[in-house]
Amino acid sequence: MGRKTMSDLNLRNIPSVDKLLNMPSLASAVLGLPRTVVLQAVRETLTMARQTLLAGGRVDISTEALLAAARRQAMQLAMPSLKRVINATGLVLHTNLGRAPLSRRAAERTQAILEGYSTLEYDVESGGRGSRYDHVADRLSRLTGAEAALVVNNNAAAVLLTLAALAAGKEVLVSRGQLVEVGGSFRIPDVMRQSGVKLVEVGTTNRTRIADYQEAITPETAAIMKVHTSNFRICGFTEQPTDAELCALAREQRIVLLDDLGSGTLLPLELGGWREPAVLERIAAGMDVVTFSGDKLLGGSQAGIIAGKQDCIAKIKKHPLLRALRVDKLTLAALEGTLLDYEIGDPKIDIPALRLLTRPVEEVKHQAEHLAHQLGAIRAKGWFAKAAPMQAQSGGGAFPAVEIASFGVRLTVEGRSINEIELALRSWTTPIICRLQENAIYLDVRCVSEEDMKIIRTACLSLAGVASE
Ligand SMILES: *Cc1c(COP(=O)(O)O)cnc(C)c1O
Repeated sequence: MGRKTMSDLNLRNIPSVDKLLNMPSLASAVLGLPRTVVLQAVRETLTMARQTLLAGGRVDISTEALLAAARRQAMQLAMPSLKRVINATGLVLHTNLGRAPLSRRAAERTQAILEGYSTLEYDVESGGRGSRYDHVADRLSRLTGAEAALVVNNNAAAVLLTLAALAAGKEVLVSRGQLVEVGGSFRIPDVMRQSGVKLVEVGTTNRTRIADYQEAITPETAAIMKVHTSNFRICGFTEQPTDAELCALAREQRIVLLDDLGSGTLLPLELGGWREPAVLERIAAGMDVVTFSGDKLLGGSQAGIIAGKQDCIAKIKKHPLLRALRVDKLTLAALEGTLLDYEIGDPKIDIPALRLLTRPVEEVKHQAEHLAHQLGAIRAKGWFAKAAPMQAQSGGGAFPAVEIASFGVRLTVEGRSINEIELALRSWTTPIICRLQENAIYLDVRCVSEEDMKIIRTACLSLAGVASE
């Protein structure tokens, strides 16, 4: 018989789930929370205590302490999982942080539509059935110069559907320099396979000539697809045929010319010497169908937009996959609000993604200095906050490798692990997402609002142990 250890004894003294559940003090503390949530919280708290004891750790197993822990756990479980965060990373279209923040108008349109019924598929004039695809089609045509347009769930869906509808069972030519992988497992060759087309690679990684396309065309060829090199650059000894050459070849061979723009801006945009082509220009250059995202440079909700020739869009609309990829009213309301920003607003001011990308560095610098100044009080605790130049990035498959001059606060702390502080900021009620580098925390303020500044200040003061006045 082994000697009973301290933790064996403690294990037996852990109260039962039922005992904790039936404590009146727990019931009153978690009033309004579903019973299932409280039950899960109690179970998790007891399991945690047991595991800590088994691992030889110390834990207070008094009923009061466990009740308090269960209460905290229940509150945690009841909190929404999808939270607003502060983006202090300097990456404007941060896919993990929800890509484009929506504009005021987009939020208002969404609010107006969400809580009631809408004309989603209802035609008020005829009193009969309408189409959800009509709501933004005209606006998109005006903004892109395309004859027709269609919206689906995201750009991956737009590419998939376009290929399936226009080229399934046939060959599609793509330059080897354009077989891209966009983050999050979207690879052009894989999507092509899924859509049922046969990918025919032409040219080489750095050079593809019009003759390469010409020679690859067979009676089985249905399309040429151009893919925007969204997140990398090929420089040096490079060559791609001109749009005019591609158009002439496609017309002559009676095949369609597709252009997956990825980000697809509605305004021509230039940053750091790099220019992203506007959809309007791609349509004008003669592309039959252009596909692009709603939540990248466009600055709206997650969506995939297919714009192009009337006959192509009509074919795509008839494809059965469309039903599986169809957009919700939430998406459409937000997208319509954003498109209104382009039509009746001032897009570079009204649309957060564009405003944040083009904020003058002087303004960002001023804001960083202001934040550093506000954090002055933490110096007494060995925290040093200093305004410093930083490099922001666009993200969202646009402006690859362009470093946008930005500013932020560089935070160093004496005698405490910087990783621990980064974790504390990330665990704040409104999580503050920043960058860690060379034993310092970098808070790029390009995408940080006035409201966010207050939260950052409160968090830093509190973590440093300085009372805010
Ligand atoms: C981003 C991107 C996609 C995928 O778009 P989602 O809207 O994220 O689905 C496809 N193609 C290119 C070239 C891209 O840059």
